[in-house]
Amino acid sequence: ENTTVEVPVACVDGGSVFIGGDAVVMMAGPCTVESEKQLMTTAEAVRKEGAVILRGGAFKPSTSPYGFRGLGEEGLRLLAKARSEFGMAVITEVMTPSDVPMVCEYADILQIGTRNMQNYMLLDEVGRTQKPVVLKRGMSATFEEWLLAAEYVLSQGNRNVILCERGIRTFEKMTRNTMDISAIPLIKQISHLPIISDPSQGTGRRDLVTPMTLASVAAGTDALLIEVHPNPDEALKDGAQSLTLDQFQQLMPQLQAVAGAI
Ligand code: PEP
Repeated sequence: ENTTVEVPVACVDGGSVFIGGDAVVMMAGPCTVESEKQLMTTAEAVRKEGAVILRGGAFKPSTSPYGFRGLGEEGLRLLAKARSEFGMAVITEVMTPSDVPMVCEYADILQIGTRNMQNYMLLDEVGRTQKPVVLKRGMSATFEEWLLAAEYVLSQGNRNVILCERGIRTFEKMTRNTMDISAIPLIKQISHLPIISDPSQGTGRRDLVTPMTLASVAAGTDALLIEVHPNPDEALKDGAQSLTLDQFQQLMPQLQAVAGAI
């Protein structure tokens, strides 16, 4: 039997959305929380277009230690403020087992990033909560390794696991990662868990985010995780893969057309 994961969302009728249910759920927001103004502007814009879950990193797994690593707890506070202002649920990354209780206080969904897919202590710790967990695919992980990582969370008693395709590492350099759309129908065949799609990390290129979003919907994704920034060229992180507010506005009717057509 397929699993659906309930996420409490104040701004929708009934007060919850179900990932793995009938509707494709939109999660959108900045890669990283940079300031109150940046977060609130983005949250207001994506909410207006229909996103119900706000993404935003407070603890960032930066490839370089000299890159922006997030605002930490202050970033979480800003996310919680945006939640109460716009009624959206919040998804944010947790990187360390000891941070899990703190992140749980502010977030509705815990994100485990690609670099931590096999951080077993972290998986155990989020498994001891009842929060929905988005488990990103490790950039070089096999499907079996990914599903076994999910088992770490499930086996601790947390049944609210959502898998996320975010691209894999290949020889290709024109894209940041190679978005593996086939993961979506394949996971649906071999697992009961919901699967969502992150075309921002999956491509690293804003010009490819809309086509990969539509392809993900056609392939059966349960939700999308998309990076949006009011001024991507000035973003402290991942501006190249962030949609502008206008681009996000243009994406939503296209998504609804594809979702309605299938
Ligand atoms: C992110 O979504 O902010 C992120 C860092 O993703 P990933 O772990 O897929 O690189």
